[in-house]
Amino acid sequence: MAKKTIKDLQVEGKTVLVRVDFNVPMKDGKITDENRIQASLETIKYLIDHQAKLVLFSHLGKVKTEEDKAKNDLKPVAERLSQILGKEVVFSSVTRGQELEDKVKSLKAGDVLLVQNTRYEDLDGKKESGNDPELGKYWASLGDVFVNDAFGTAHRAHASNVGIASHLESAVGFLMEKEVKFLGDAVDQPVRPFVAILGGAKVSDKIKVIENLLDKADKVIIGGGMAFTFLKAQGKEIGQSLLEEDRIELAKRLLEQAGDKLILPVDTTVADAFSNEANIKVVSIDDIPANWQGLDCGPKTVELFADVLKDAKTVVWNGPMGVFEMPNFAKGTIGVCQAIADLEDATTIVGGGDSAAAVAQLGYEDKFSHISTGGGASLTYLEGVDLPGVVSIDDK
Ligand code: AMP
Repeated sequence: MAKKTIKDLQVEGKTVLVRVDFNVPMKDGKITDENRIQASLETIKYLIDHQAKLVLFSHLGKVKTEEDKAKNDLKPVAERLSQILGKEVVFSSVTRGQELEDKVKSLKAGDVLLVQNTRYEDLDGKKESGNDPELGKYWASLGDVFVNDAFGTAHRAHASNVGIASHLESAVGFLMEKEVKFLGDAVDQPVRPFVAILGGAKVSDKIKVIENLLDKADKVIIGGGMAFTFLKAQGKEIGQSLLEEDRIELAKRLLEQAGDKLILPVDTTVADAFSNEANIKVVSIDDIPANWQGLDCGPKTVELFADVLKDAKTVVWNGPMGVFEMPNFAKGTIGVCQAIADLEDATTIVGGGDSAAAVAQLGYEDKFSHISTGGGASLTYLEGVDLPGVVSIDDK
């Protein structure tokens, strides 16, 4: 890649500041899913093995009140990381000041320090999220080089990624390198046919993604709630299904522009209420009853989508095909997941967020070439927009 990677850096004996993504879900001070910690281990272990002194930075949740501070304390993550690594992880309970500086100074080669939640700095004037120049400079002063491995926040310009990077020699870590390679290659130099599958709730959240992929992919499949605004734009009656009235004109324009590139559902599982206990039936997209709502793709749609996918050499999937959280409306998402998993000779990529959660829930993690760890960041990439967290890293 065009950016320096961790292997381009001399790290032995150096204090290496590492931005990781430890923004893990927590309940009552306990980590409920440690995937993000696991995803950062390759970089952390490499730096330990190469005798660096590691200073790890991460945010956790949003910090707007004192209550958020207590809820989003990173200490449990330091404890868990220590267990996983089988070595001490020093924790600095503050994001600046004597305690942090003393702990950084006392690190020896191979030692690891985790700094308190960077967003504690947001309580007093959004210093982290607003990329306060003084804060980035201060953090940079603690180390010799900077590694950014936090793909999950790469779409944001914050003090702990872009701020630090502007003061030190910098490189991307292994996770960031992998994310950028898979997503970047898929969108910018895909092996064709390139099929994109988009789902989820709203057209408005993904307009730029749809536009960019209509430009770059050979086929764009649209399922999930957002398909109904397109179906409405085609003049179909969609009953009580999800509709964004103010996006109908946009959907019409995209349909005209896309021609047969854009594929929509042909049937749907409708329900008489937004509930797993509701009455359900499968109907053609032309026969949605007035008081029912489409909550999943139907079996003919899954067949159609699987047929479009079968020759694909590159597949990017973002967003569930229905309300997959409710078992009665998960079949479309499972069907599409299966169809992608069955492709033997294709690079298959799942954008983060709900589609990654769906893949995990179905136990299909091993069947994809790459499952992105960053929902917002991978969507930004799919929009064709450069990620500030990557742009700010030194070129090779
Ligand atoms: P997103 O965050 O935009 O990817 O949207 C994900 C959400 O879309 C999930 O919570 C799904 O339950 C929801 N969703 C998918 N299909 C539908 C649908 N047909 N009607 C309502 N919500 C849907």
